[in-house]
Amino acid sequence: MTTANHALVDDLVAANHILYVEGVVDGFGHVSVRHDQRADRFLLACGVAPATVTADDILEVDFNGVVHDEAGRRSYLERFIHSEIYKAHPDVMAIVHSHSPAIIPFSVTTRVTLKPVCQMSGFLGFSTPIFEIRDTAGDDNNMLVTRAKLGRALAESLGTTDFALMRGHGSVTVAKSLRLAVARATWAEMNAKLQTEALRMAGTDGDAGVNYLTPVKLQDRWPSTRRWWIGHGISGRRKRGSRLRVWSGSCRLTSQIRKALSASLGCLRVNRVSTLRVY
Ligand SMILES: [Zn+2]
Repeated sequence: MTTANHALVDDLVAANHILYVEGVVDGFGHVSVRHDQRADRFLLACGVAPATVTADDILEVDFNGVVHDEAGRRSYLERFIHSEIYKAHPDVMAIVHSHSPAIIPFSVTTRVTLKPVCQMSGFLGFSTPIFEIRDTAGDDNNMLVTRAKLGRALAESLGTTDFALMRGHGSVTVAKSLRLAVARATWAEMNAKLQTEALRMAGTDGDAGVNYLTPVKLQDRWPSTRRWWIGHGISGRRKRGSRLRVWSGSCRLTSQIRKALSASLGCLRVNRVSTLRVY
């Protein structure tokens, strides 16, 4: 059982669910946050699908990638992404690693660069690094960051940016808070979809036909993610008997997800029309 603050654990559970609902993670992908009581560890779920994560699944991992208090649970093979980034970047408080589909094309083409097309994705900047695992692991590799050496190389690729593509694999998003990391990972995926559509509309004009954000607007205009988080039903204002919208109506809630969500929000049940009542 982790010694971290319960509220932080609850937020990490909610972060897993939000990333699943937003299509950033599916059965794979993970999110972590620095431990709030121990400077040498971070929190990460054990090797389960993000949509099903509960507080009991949260493990403590140190910066060497060693899992503590496993109690028979397996951790993600790619936990070295997190351990090495935390080690190399003391200002990073939370990390999302995903294989979100709209992002991946931008990691494998040299003709188009991922660039911000709307205000939420200004954090991407104009020089998104692309991590090439072959530079460290050679041609004979399985694309996964399963060793400290590979995680270290990825952390170096990230440099001072908040987002890095991983060639043919996915991406990594970092931030100074868990909520901002989750929001940024979602906005990066959204930006990739919008940019792809904008380029399609631009036709043969290509990049020249797209009016990207200008550098003056590149500051992170959305430092507070409170409203965004509340929009997912995760709020500190959970009054007895109140109702909160949780997911978009188009999202299918399986009984397992409803159960996990209900537990993470401290509610008794989440109904079929994606409204929950707080008891
Ligand atoms: Zn991966």
